[in-house]
Amino acid sequence: MKMKKATLKDIRRQIARVQAAGGFYAKRLKGIDPEDIKTQEDFEKLPFSEKDDLRDAYPLGLAAVPDEEIVRIHSSSGTTGLPCIIPYTQKDVEDWAELFKRCYEIAGITNKDRIHITPGYGLWTAGIGFQLGAEKLGAMTIPMGPGNTDKQIKFMQDMESTVLCATSSYALLLAEEIEKRGVKDTIKLRKGVIGSERWGPKMRARIANELGVELYDIYGLTEVYGPGIAINCEYETGMHYFDDYLYFEVIDPKTGKVLPDGELGELVITTLKKEGAPLIRYRTHDLTRIIPDDVPCPCGRKLPRIDVILGRTDDMVKVKGVNIFPGQIEDCLKDIEGASSEYQIFIDHEDGKDVINLFVETIFTKKGERRKLEKAIKDKIKSVINVGVTPKAVDIGDLPRSEKKTTRVFDYRY
Ligand code: ZN
Repeated sequence: MKMKKATLKDIRRQIARVQAAGGFYAKRLKGIDPEDIKTQEDFEKLPFSEKDDLRDAYPLGLAAVPDEEIVRIHSSSGTTGLPCIIPYTQKDVEDWAELFKRCYEIAGITNKDRIHITPGYGLWTAGIGFQLGAEKLGAMTIPMGPGNTDKQIKFMQDMESTVLCATSSYALLLAEEIEKRGVKDTIKLRKGVIGSERWGPKMRARIANELGVELYDIYGLTEVYGPGIAINCEYETGMHYFDDYLYFEVIDPKTGKVLPDGELGELVITTLKKEGAPLIRYRTHDLTRIIPDDVPCPCGRKLPRIDVILGRTDDMVKVKGVNIFPGQIEDCLKDIEGASSEYQIFIDHEDGKDVINLFVETIFTKKGERRKLEKAIKDKIKSVINVGVTPKAVDIGDLPRSEKKTTRVFDYRY
């Protein structure tokens, strides 16, 4: 996607701002004159930043404004050690509310809606982001926070909530509970705004059917305001995002090269207006693609789009010149009858060539059925990912399970 002139201007201003503040980015961008960033190519030579960089700046090393301008902090939990602290100015808080309000509008939500917010309130950005946007929209908010299913359902009934904001797992739990209690007729929900984590089409269909709602994926991360920076419209052609506030790139996570629109890779975000803690070329490790704009969204919005988040890029492997992500394999297997969600990928180098053996658990026991299944998997992966694999059907329970995150890829080439 071609970078706009206004975007370059914003970027120059952001760079000057972080350099003047003297924090982490001043060091990272040392020797770079913002006025020299005249083209997209100039911008693409700037170094990336990472969550570890933000963590190293703990506690307030990211602040790009004087103390008295910071009105709030949020923090994203790291898996290890220190959290990242993100300072916000009053304008950042207002901008975030504006972005979130736009998300609600794209989802067809209005000030007549009653928005039931179940994500948590506190240091992390979830609940309060949903709240800010809803208030700015002028809708009635019901700030529930998570937990206490009885109370959730009672308030949904008595307050006549029309919009449910939740994580996918909590939305499913509530949907099942409503179904179990046989109270679906007393619930007025019409839409669900679901935090974009990885969730399969089967789960999505269950939530939509059991609650009787339209679902919207909302995307965001604490480092970049919080949730509310991208959402799909009713046509589900990907998530629209706001290029007047944010610049998105998708890169090859191994080489750092910017990828053409349409190709899967890692989302990198640059903030264009943020004051408290601007980010320059921040690597999200989220796997997605920029949707090419040659076919506009039928909703008529000019806003650019990214695909739903397919997973994390940390698990990527490059085989036969193609980047492969376990999330893609999972997506292929989901549509194939008889294939379970348990699989493992073994990559090896044989006779001068990379080979991919893909073990998939199946309920099929007959030899003929299994050969058919293997062929279906091979064809599907060839057509979607454009890489040749050798599938091997195995019994349910054959592949090792782990308490922690399951390892999907074993690379024996090196
Ligand atoms: Zn649209």
